[in-house]
Amino acid sequence: METIFTKIVKGEIPCYKIAENDKFYAFLDINPLAAGHTLVIPKEATDWLFDITDDDLSGIILFAKKVAHAISKTYPGKRVGMVVIGYEVPHAHIHLVPMQTMQDIDFKRTRVKLSSEEFQQIATAISRFI
Ligand code: AMP
Repeated sequence: METIFTKIVKGEIPCYKIAENDKFYAFLDINPLAAGHTLVIPKEATDWLFDITDDDLSGIILFAKKVAHAISKTYPGKRVGMVVIGYEVPHAHIHLVPMQTMQDIDFKRTRVKLSSEEFQQIATAISRFI
C-alpha cells in the first residue's frame, strides 16, 4: 500500500526528518500541537498501529523511546505525551508531543504555525540527541 507517509520514507515528499532505522522513521508533524510534535511510523504501511506484528510493535515503541528522549532533551522540563489516533492518515503512526500541561495534547486545540526555518531548526535540534 502506498500512502503519503510511504512517499515521505522514499523521499518523494519532503519532511523534517528526526531519525530512521531499517524499519521505522520519525519526522516532525507538519501541523503541530507544539514545537517538537513528532510522528513515528513503520516504513511499511499498515493502516492501524495495532495490526502490525508483535515484533514490529515492540520495535516501534523502542524506537519511539529514543525519539521521546531526544525530544525531552531538546525541551527540558516537558513531558512527552504519546498518542495513537489515525483518523487522517491510513498509515500507522505514533504522535509524540512535548507538553507542559494536559491542554498541550488536546488535538482539538489550534495548531502552532511554524516557518520552514523553524521546522528545520527543531528537527536539527532533536536529531542531535538521537
Ligand atoms: P491522525 O491520522 O489523525 O493521527 O493525524 C495525522 C497527522 O499527520 C496530523 O497531525 C497531520 O498534521 C500529520 N501529517 C499529515 N500529512 C503530513 C505530512 N506530509 N508531513 C508531516 N505530517 C503530516
